[in-house]
Amino acid sequence: MQAIVIGGGIIGLSSAYYLRQKGWNVTVLEKGDLKDNCSFGNMGYLSPSHFVPLAQPGIIGQGLLWMFQEKSPFYIRPSLNPDLISWGIKFMRASNQRHVERSAKPLMDLLLLSRDLTIGWQKSGLIDMQLAHDGCMMYYQSAKKEHEELENARQAEALGLNIEIFDRDQVQALEPDVRPDVRGGVLYKDDAHLHPNSLMEQLPQVLERMGVEVMTGCQVTEFCSRNGQITSVKYRREGESSAHSLTADIVVLAAGSWSPQLAKMAGEKLSLMPGKGYSMTIAAPKQRLRYPSILLDAKVALTPWANQLRIGSTMEIGAINDRILLPRVQGILEAVPRFLPGLADDAEFKKLATEPNLASKVWYGFRPVSADGMPYIGFAKNNKNLIMATGHAMVGVSLAAGTGLVVSELAEGKSTSVSLEAFDPRRY
Ligand SMILES: Cc1cc2nc3c(=O)[nH]c(=O)nc-3n(C[C@H](O)[C@H](O)[C@H](O)COP(=O)(O)OP(=O)(O)OC[C@H]3O[C@@H](n4cnc5c(N)ncnc54)[C@H](O)[C@@H]3O)c2cc1C
Repeated sequence: MQAIVIGGGIIGLSSAYYLRQKGWNVTVLEKGDLKDNCSFGNMGYLSPSHFVPLAQPGIIGQGLLWMFQEKSPFYIRPSLNPDLISWGIKFMRASNQRHVERSAKPLMDLLLLSRDLTIGWQKSGLIDMQLAHDGCMMYYQSAKKEHEELENARQAEALGLNIEIFDRDQVQALEPDVRPDVRGGVLYKDDAHLHPNSLMEQLPQVLERMGVEVMTGCQVTEFCSRNGQITSVKYRREGESSAHSLTADIVVLAAGSWSPQLAKMAGEKLSLMPGKGYSMTIAAPKQRLRYPSILLDAKVALTPWANQLRIGSTMEIGAINDRILLPRVQGILEAVPRFLPGLADDAEFKKLATEPNLASKVWYGFRPVSADGMPYIGFAKNNKNLIMATGHAMVGVSLAAGTGLVVSELAEGKSTSVSLEAFDPRRY
């Protein structure tokens, strides 16, 4: 039985891994070279703490305020694009407490399953990705953010997560080099982090050793269907004008922010927008940050690894493009001295902050953001053998292994390890 996976990001590769484990012949079709996509330069968090979907109460008001601040972490590029308008309306409708309450448990179940599977990859020696299971610290400076975060922490505890709350002196003792200038912080102890570039470099090699065919430079351009089934997938090789075709028993659509166009080709609808984010990576500063940290008021995240530190943020909703909005990048860098003055004093950080060609230091990727902030995982509406696996927004790495496993279970026609009702792609 032949499975075709479209997209060689972390979701497509994880799906290929579990499909192959279950005995499928698997081909991954990837239009790029597998050296960069959204799954590379991200922060590498495995975050059970992120059980609240992006569509949540307060996000619209906060987003509108941020829209008009050029250094803010959020921006929607105004456009009359009907897909953006329709996505925006759905997103607004979903940004309510009921949606958050309904989504928290299914999201948490998939986050925990996924984290454990990913830890298994590291422990078994499958992939060496500097995985550390030592939590993630959420810092707050304002009383408002403190209040919101403590409420989040209370809900996290109710869902079974381990958290610890620290006041200003305690966080300074925990992070003596960077001296957090904050009211306090919550440590989510169940979170872990990894080096996503290492994961993405090694996973294709693992797949090839397992017998998966990973085809780069191959862009899917068309589907052929009969009786509500995709029978073959057409693709074009880079530099060639004629199309090639592969027969398929199961097709997995895991093309990240490009998924809506492919869904349309297959006669399906997928409400999803690209959400561009930036990151910058420097050599590990001498002023060492011990915990992966999120500076909540500024929405900036930092991840320390043995030899590197990554700083990332922003969500720019709009078409896929190569433009780097430098004021927003500067907004990210300016948050560091406000929250972590010790780190801002470090030579490596100073070198980055004063870099004359800052754009050359910036990585960007497009998060696939669904219309209600919940991934789309499950069978499509019109094609019986098409499985959607996309829309993971800010938690694609956190959810990848779990998504891959449930995709393979769906393909086998088995019941899935976690309930997928909340992720049903047919909900829009
Ligand atoms: C700044 C930033 C920080 C982040 N931090 C985290 C984090 O800490 N933890 C976390 O869990 N998540 C994080 N994320 C989100 C995470 O990176 C994404 O959710 C995840 O990478 C999405 O993976 P994907 O496989 O769906 O998409 P992608 O990685 O974008 O892969 C999709 C692939 O499909 C291919 N493709 C598209 N069209 C076609 C076609 N027609 N034919 C063939 N191939 C095609 C593309 O070339 C691409 O390689 C972050 C994102 C950003 C931007």
